[in-house]
Amino acid sequence: MSKKDCVPYGSDVSAGTYECADCGHIYSNQSKTSMPPCPEHGKSPHKLNCWIILSGRGDNPKDPYPDE
Ligand SMILES: [Zn+2]
Repeated sequence: MSKKDCVPYGSDVSAGTYECADCGHIYSNQSKTSMPPCPEHGKSPHKLNCWIILSGRGDNPKDPYPDE
């Protein structure tokens, strides 16, 4: 998957549906807020620590992506 479709934890996002890039957990964000860590984070290995945008408008373009 490409980096641009992956929203890091804590990014400001719009309402939409997101999938954990690491474990596939589906998170439905009903309101504009920042993305929380995946609930499975800490239970299973998470290396990417970001969310894949399934629907809606994802990341805030003013919020730069981390280099890693
Ligand atoms: Zn996860």
